[in-house]
Amino acid sequence: MALMTGVIRRLDETVVNRIAAGEVIQRPANAIKEMIENCLDAKSTSIQVTVKDGGLKLIQVQDNGCGIRKEDLDIVCERFTTSKLQTFEDLASIATYGFRGEALASISHVAHVTVTTKTADGKCAYRASYCDGKLKAPPRPCAGNQGTQITVEDLFYNVTTRRKALKNPSEEYAKILDVVSRYAVHNSGISFSVKKQGDTVADVRTLSNATTVDNIRSIFGNAVSRELIEVGCEDAKLAFKMKGYITNANYSVKKCTFLLFINHRLVESAALRKAIETVYAAYLPKNTHPFLYISLEIAPQNVDVNVHPTKYEVHFLHEDSILEHVQQHVESKLLGSNSSRMYFTQTLLPGAAGSSSEFGKLAASSSSTTQGTGDKVYAHQMVRTDSREQKLDAFLKPVNKPQTSRPATVLQEGNKGTFDGKGGPQDAEMEELDDFSIKAATEGPAVMTPEELKESRRPSPETVPPRKRQRADTDVEMEEDDSRKEMTAAYTPRRRIINLTSILTLQEEISSQAHASLQEMLRDHSFVGCVSPQWALAQYQTKLYLLSTTKLSQELFYQILIYDFGNFGVLRLSEPAPLYDLAMLALEDPESGWTEEDGPKEGLAEYIVEFVRSKNEMLKDYFSLEIDEEGCLTGLPLLIDNYIPPLEGLPMFILRLATEVNWDEERECFKSLSKECALLYSIRKQYIMEESNLTNQQNEELGSCATSWKWAVEHVLFKAFRGHFLPPKVFTEDGTILQLANLPDLYKVFERC
Ligand code: ADP
Ligand code: MG
Repeated sequence: MALMTGVIRRLDETVVNRIAAGEVIQRPANAIKEMIENCLDAKSTSIQVTVKDGGLKLIQVQDNGCGIRKEDLDIVCERFTTSKLQTFEDLASIATYGFRGEALASISHVAHVTVTTKTADGKCAYRASYCDGKLKAPPRPCAGNQGTQITVEDLFYNVTTRRKALKNPSEEYAKILDVVSRYAVHNSGISFSVKKQGDTVADVRTLSNATTVDNIRSIFGNAVSRELIEVGCEDAKLAFKMKGYITNANYSVKKCTFLLFINHRLVESAALRKAIETVYAAYLPKNTHPFLYISLEIAPQNVDVNVHPTKYEVHFLHEDSILEHVQQHVESKLLGSNSSRMYFTQTLLPGAAGSSSEFGKLAASSSSTTQGTGDKVYAHQMVRTDSREQKLDAFLKPVNKPQTSRPATVLQEGNKGTFDGKGGPQDAEMEELDDFSIKAATEGPAVMTPEELKESRRPSPETVPPRKRQRADTDVEMEEDDSRKEMTAAYTPRRRIINLTSILTLQEEISSQAHASLQEMLRDHSFVGCVSPQWALAQYQTKLYLLSTTKLSQELFYQILIYDFGNFGVLRLSEPAPLYDLAMLALEDPESGWTEEDGPKEGLAEYIVEFVRSKNEMLKDYFSLEIDEEGCLTGLPLLIDNYIPPLEGLPMFILRLATEVNWDEERECFKSLSKECALLYSIRKQYIMEESNLTNQQNEELGSCATSWKWAVEHVLFKAFRGHFLPPKVFTEDGTILQLANLPDLYKVFERC
């Protein structure tokens, strides 16, 4: 049999052409893209697309461009006939879309093509039909307006496999709308329309006098268009120019829309998409994406336009450098966009690069040293910043006057009172409190009724002498602490000197990361007000800052734990809290991540109790975390005067002691344990009740408690930040401290109003 002999035969030419055509034109949307590019090459200002059955039955593209001369109609559908390119060298400077004369020819091999066209100086229009690249009959004169109408019928009528693959017309129609939409956005000034044959209303429609933003609005909707930022940058060395519109951080959707044109050709660049999306990742909620329209112009010699017509993915010379450039520009635009929530993501702090070496040692700084090493402030920029005169609260609705007493049912038992830098003489009342505390300490856990507690409260106790320690370990001695002497001279306490290498290393770690300008800012700031439990406003010189109370307080407590290691007073709980109950509470909390697989909660809780109890001695000795015989928590470290951690965090704290602390290695153990304590002590939103959420009655019942977090933030935490706090450099970058405004600029705004 002939087929079995394996004779190699030359393929029929029409079959070769059909195969080639099938590669160029893969679906109706490809054909339409090619045809639109031809219309644009012909300088059209109006391009109308009509389709039937997703373009499989009919595609008609009508333009008002220059038209095709009658003489050329014979050959327009032949391969490699083009009016646009003459020599190979022209490729380098090609300014038109088409240049290889391949599109129309290809289409004519897989569909019935009819061209109706009239040039400006032609007497009339001509119509010609093509099959397999050739004219079916000589062009016939007919009536018509200037421009070209190309009709493509029964696409893939002779390619069964392709036709079968494209059996969903609505999917094809969606692809067509997508392609035309992109060209419409990129070509403002030219009107586009796409509709289904027989429909009177177009599905995509732009007007010739509309702007790019108008077009984005009419095609992609208001939600996108109102969040657009204009972008644009160029670089002569890299020979590129970029412009476009991208959405700001207020806009985020599940799927990224990326309209990319390189030298006005619709293309894809996975590298560029990734580069830009990386920038957005920092601004948008997880797994959400922006809308991007970007037009890149690259010196023609640097980008290979001679790609296969279906190869949308492009690469170009200096790709990495150009991407980096674009990335930086996008980042700067996102930062600068003045939408309200951008403030929360602005992470660059002007003047953040200050040196920190001079603050290497905690003990080295005293309140009156280096002043104003930051920007010079001129007289005309001076503003009143005495926080005692007026605070934000004064402008808000009156609230219960916060009292100076401590609200929670915890008894403060004594500490050095050094961290806030105040070591003034004690008054009689404090001595009284101190006596009581020491007594309480020697008598074992003090269980206080709320009445007793109220009794024991004293107005504004500043400092209380520490509990005297009588232990002497090999690495822990009782000695006078010279470095702290100035602070504590009033009563020269004896303080355990900690020579543990692990702790000294952790102290070194803190001081080496300190940021001098930030420290200066925190030391000399004027407190403006609390925005929420997590955020507060402070002014420094002429600038207004938004500070994360949560993060700052966490770091503050961590530093206290490391620098005052082994020297804490005790906050005695008014009632011992059974560790078992705390552990159970934590496991009930979905935040614990407990699942059936972990086994019964009761068993786990028992394990946690036993585990924490086994660390009892160390916890008590170094961290003033006291646990009694019955397995109840009775005392917490007193880290700063007048501050009680939100006890709602205790259950999770106990659970995390067992799960998050590294107990194997000394330094890591002290570090992670301190971090956990700091987390417990920090001001966190979930444990703070905002008074606006409380009913009047609740408000009365709670009295000062409801407002006490504000009081604590202003009078305890921010006061402590002025002291020996060493803010780490990262705070200038991670959004912990953000500059919101500076007065000279604000004045300029007001002047304009
Ligand atoms: P290319 O665009 O690469 O030149 P095409 O096969 O797309 O190749 O088109 C072949 C030629 O047909 C073009 O060079 C152009 O002269 C002519 N042509 C096609 N479409 C149009 C149109 N809409 N208006 C004017 N001329 C057109
Ligand atoms: Mg073309």
